[in-house]
Amino acid sequence: MPKRILVVEDNDLNRKLFCDVLKANGYEVVPVADGDNVLPTARKFRPDGVVLDIQLPNVSGLDLIAAFAADRSLRHIPILAVTAYAGKGDEEKIRAAGARDYLAKPVSIAPFMAAVRALVGDGAAASDAPRAGFAPA
Ligand code: MN
Repeated sequence: MPKRILVVEDNDLNRKLFCDVLKANGYEVVPVADGDNVLPTARKFRPDGVVLDIQLPNVSGLDLIAAFAADRSLRHIPILAVTAYAGKGDEEKIRAAGARDYLAKPVSIAPFMAAVRALVGDGAAASDAPRAGFAPA
């Protein structure tokens, strides 16, 4: 069974790129563009990990991380936060809220996939998947 990753990203291009790269590396992906749909989708889809953009319309990614941590059915799911506005204080806030790991945009494929593999406990075997360039955040 492929591991399942919930990809939360409101930017259409980034969302597609995250999903394409994950699928090319053998993951099953469910994309979510709207922060309001994150928790219901997570409860239904039961992902092995979440890639979470912190800047979402109407909802703060930090609040979503806290909501995962507060939900008995979701708190075990590790979250990889992704943000374009990376101050040192931001990273501390994101980790303090309960995110397992953190990447600053623009995200490159190799560190992204390494972070996802570590997130869901997959081995560090190098992928044969083709590499494509990521667009900037
Ligand atoms: Mn965003």
